[in-house]
Amino acid sequence: MRTLDAAELLSLWERGQPRHALDRAALLAAAARPDWPAESIADLPLGAIGASLLRLRAANFGTHMDAHADCRHCGQRLSFALDVAELLAEAPPEEAADTVPETEVAGLHLRAPSLRDLAAVATLDPADAADALLARCTLAGQPALLDEVARAQVDEALEALDPQADLAFSLNCVACGRTDMAQLDTAALLWDEITARVGALLHEVHLLASRYGWGEAQILALPAVRRAQYLALVEAAS
Ligand SMILES: [Zn+2]
Repeated sequence: MRTLDAAELLSLWERGQPRHALDRAALLAAAARPDWPAESIADLPLGAIGASLLRLRAANFGTHMDAHADCRHCGQRLSFALDVAELLAEAPPEEAADTVPETEVAGLHLRAPSLRDLAAVATLDPADAADALLARCTLAGQPALLDEVARAQVDEALEALDPQADLAFSLNCVACGRTDMAQLDTAALLWDEITARVGALLHEVHLLASRYGWGEAQILALPAVRRAQYLALVEAAS
């Protein structure tokens, strides 16, 4: 996994800023995996997308990740640390073929959902979205005819089909003492980190341009160590 230099981060941020969250996840996956044909990304299994984002995250920001979630019982904001290497332990290797997994369950032939599927159901309410997603991912069979037991089997089978798609873990709330399941939104976390890094970079450009009159491209092209050294000089002189 390659790291993104300052100019690449800035350009990525600029292109992602006006986009919907799912579209942004596709953009980040394209940056993570330049070997993937751009038009194929929206149709890849979500687990492969998630793993590519975790690898991009590790390469650019390290494997230690500070995250947060709100307790669904009392609303308390809970902070916790995650290890990206641990999250990737079950993921298929980067060079594995990214075929869409399929399975047979309860008389249905199913495939794993993709970003395109999530985007198609994004505006529906949760129950309708789950039905619409299942209908999209059914290659053969009649999902509308399932009884409750069969539907639970189908939901379980879909989860097992692409386990990396849904990274969930349990959290103990320090405020109300209850346990909750939190889902990791890798794309949103990574996006927040890129936004913070870009904010810091633009501030550095501002300081160095004001002091030395250099252009933005010139400043961003400086090796990070040298840029930091000039910034220290500017700060020492102010
Ligand atoms: Zn709580």
